[in-house]
Amino acid sequence: MKDNETPSEFVSDPPDVDTKTAPLKSHNPPSDGNTSSESKPSRTVNLLELAAEVESSTSLEEIRLSGDETPIILFTPETTEVDLHYCPEPDIKGYVRCQEKECLLCGIERKQNRRLCLPVYLPTEGRVGVLPVSLSLRPHALLTQLINILKTIDEEQPEDEPEKQPQVVFLRREDNFKYCVSTRPLPPDTDAGEAQIKRFLSEKDQGLIDIATVIPKIDGDQLKAIPEILQMMKLKGING
Ligand SMILES: [Zn+2]
Repeated sequence: MKDNETPSEFVSDPPDVDTKTAPLKSHNPPSDGNTSSESKPSRTVNLLELAAEVESSTSLEEIRLSGDETPIILFTPETTEVDLHYCPEPDIKGYVRCQEKECLLCGIERKQNRRLCLPVYLPTEGRVGVLPVSLSLRPHALLTQLINILKTIDEEQPEDEPEKQPQVVFLRREDNFKYCVSTRPLPPDTDAGEAQIKRFLSEKDQGLIDIATVIPKIDGDQLKAIPEILQMMKLKGING
């Protein structure tokens, strides 16, 4: 049920949301600082290393764009393709990753959408976040505008010109079809996130980060516990 090219792709997009980040936390392997060690020998824990560990494993979240501007700094053109479903049910109200085989949401014919998940730096929050981008290449679509900016960043720098300044990109969602994207040179003495970006890229290279996990995967039993989904299954004669 993939249908990424038609305008109807957008109908299942989330309505305006007033939060910029998903309410559901990333499903990265938990490293929540719970170092309780029953029957384990005691060990020395460096609090700064622990803090860095906790931060890196919990700070990767989905970015949700709204009618307010979200500033981002682009640092990579590499995205991760994720198939997902939008669940408007109050218990979820967001994207859920498609389970592919025996996906209950595919079973009730909930529309499957593909998103390119792009890691970006959030300078107001001082962390890397993940932006799910629709594959639409219409002029006002987010992907089209991000590609144009990435192209200018990627352009070879003529030797006789001053070094390119890093850009901050402001993203605002007008509606499901239209995004407003503008750029500004990053003011001097502003944190461009070099340290966080470096750490993110190194953790990604080591396979410690799976970008797709910012979109929660909800198993069948949990989905069946949501009344609207259970009712839909009954109506469609699906026994889960
Ligand atoms: Zn599915």
